[in-house]
Amino acid sequence: MALFSTEALVLRGHKLGETSRIVVLLTRERGKLRAVARGARGRLTRYRSALEPLSEVRVSLYGRQGAELLRLGDAELLHSAFRANERSLDSALFLSGCAELLDAFCSEGEAEDKVYRLALAVVGAAEAGASPELLGRYLEAWLLRLHGLYPPLDRCAACGTALSVSPLRYHRPAHGFVCDACLPASGPVLSLEVLALLRRFFKEAPDTLADGPLGAARELEAFHRGLIGAHLERDLRAPRVIREITREGAR
Ligand SMILES: [Zn+2]
Repeated sequence: MALFSTEALVLRGHKLGETSRIVVLLTRERGKLRAVARGARGRLTRYRSALEPLSEVRVSLYGRQGAELLRLGDAELLHSAFRANERSLDSALFLSGCAELLDAFCSEGEAEDKVYRLALAVVGAAEAGASPELLGRYLEAWLLRLHGLYPPLDRCAACGTALSVSPLRYHRPAHGFVCDACLPASGPVLSLEVLALLRRFFKEAPDTLADGPLGAARELEAFHRGLIGAHLERDLRAPRVIREITREGAR
């Protein structure tokens, strides 16, 4: 009998021996976990595209309660993030970046329903045509916020007074934005356009992000990279790969 069944998003997978895979799943009920999918790499694999990154699946898992590695039984594909033949390089990179970010932020065995719903909303918005660049920043902002790592936009991190509507000045030692009285700030400074974009992120659903200020999104990318790097104490691979490919293309 299966230990449990749950909905899950596939985060990543890697080879195990000749025919199997280990898959990392973000499950709705038990958070992130790892499972062995036997025979997942054969020519007539019963899992087919169910184990692609960010596919939404319904899985049965077998094994001992509390085991580090479970065994995957059935995996029914509920929703494929993009049909494989429609995947452009851009959307594939975007999906792998999202999966890597979710993987980095989620701890094994800790259910986070808000993170699960956030991931579904972002994938849905990407399919509906929202800008990957804006969606990427949206996902980062919300993952940081849901883990208590986003500095408040309306309050000075040093003295607690309300911030006026002005460019946001980040001060590293205070882990937040500071008011005029608490200057100088160590930086970076985020423009009013970025402030407006962040307010939009924290108020609106991601499917509204069909267009927006890409300059502000780029400014935010560097800022988020700093926050995420400080939290994870490492650089994520996917954003770096994307930057390298962009540079290659620009040559
Ligand atoms: Zn202050």
